[in-house]
Amino acid sequence: MENVKRCARCILPGSYPGIVFDEAGVCNFCAAHERWTPRGLEKLEEALAPYRGAHPRYDCIAAVSGGRDSSYMLWYAVRKLGLRTLAVSVDNGYVPEQTKVNIERAVKILGVDLVVKKHGHVRSCFPHTMRAWIRRPSPGMIGLLCGGCNYALRYHLLETAREHDVPLMLFGVGEPEPPTTFAERLLMSDPNREMSKPRLAAGFALKIAQNPAYIANPRVVVTYGKEFAYRWSKRLRNLLTRRIAYPEYKILEPFYYIGWNEEEISSTIARELDWKKASYAGAAWRSDCTIATLKNYLYGRTLGFSKVDELLSNMVRTGMLTRDAALERLGRDSVISEDFIREFLAGEGVSYEALDRSLARSGTPST
Ligand SMILES: [Zn+2]
Repeated sequence: MENVKRCARCILPGSYPGIVFDEAGVCNFCAAHERWTPRGLEKLEEALAPYRGAHPRYDCIAAVSGGRDSSYMLWYAVRKLGLRTLAVSVDNGYVPEQTKVNIERAVKILGVDLVVKKHGHVRSCFPHTMRAWIRRPSPGMIGLLCGGCNYALRYHLLETAREHDVPLMLFGVGEPEPPTTFAERLLMSDPNREMSKPRLAAGFALKIAQNPAYIANPRVVVTYGKEFAYRWSKRLRNLLTRRIAYPEYKILEPFYYIGWNEEEISSTIARELDWKKASYAGAAWRSDCTIATLKNYLYGRTLGFSKVDELLSNMVRTGMLTRDAALERLGRDSVISEDFIREFLAGEGVSYEALDRSLARSGTPST
């Protein structure tokens, strides 16, 4: 892994799409970074006020993936904010057992109701998409492996909001992420250019043309289409998720008010909720979905870096970690067991050997 040129301030590698270093070896993402300050608890209380006690049973819905951040947010909503909370988890069929245990334990300890919604969008597409990907490995198409999940997640959360007549929804999104992540950039016709929707669409079309196996399955095409439309514009998103039928619906992201502190989050959920990360995951980060782990594995194999490099770099920029600590953690957090990947793929009817051979044959493709 080392002998890689990395930014002198954060730890992004020279192979990161769109990266440019100045004379001092500092990357353009560090140069453009604006320090972000949480809006504060007072502003959060202001935003919550209209919803407190406004509905008979619940003040809010909390979207809980069973991962670290959303578990903390659920705890915070109940114990710190005193909100009557309905926990909702959306199961795409790839939620690790430990993660389900985390959710069940958390709602029991906190004494809140839980609604579990299931969908088959990812399940019905993943094996097909994975086999197509193996025919021509492309880092830009790794994101397609969970195509349908974003759309389905929002759809089912909104459906729950309607069913229970609770217009306020809390999302546990808060980890510092850059405005565009490398996964999106890789899909563009030229990942080093500035992010734009036409470039994204052109890049996607080109990749499909290079490997039409992706669209050989009609069910998969419908799901990709929905996911793409969902990401394309707010209007299409609202249409697809039938948001139009519930205009009062409001999303609040508490971390933007209270700040995101990894140490505080990790220690609180371990102490208060007996939360545990999925056993195979090197990092506690994204231990709520097996496909997220597989995607990171594939980024590592094709690009030599993954979302872990990106997250740690953001933590350095926001002052949560020193550069040395980030490098040290990178060595640990990036480790994903090959046996785990082999076993997971076997369960999906996909051959690890075929993947390995294909990756070896294609070397390190640029996009
Ligand atoms: Zn940097």
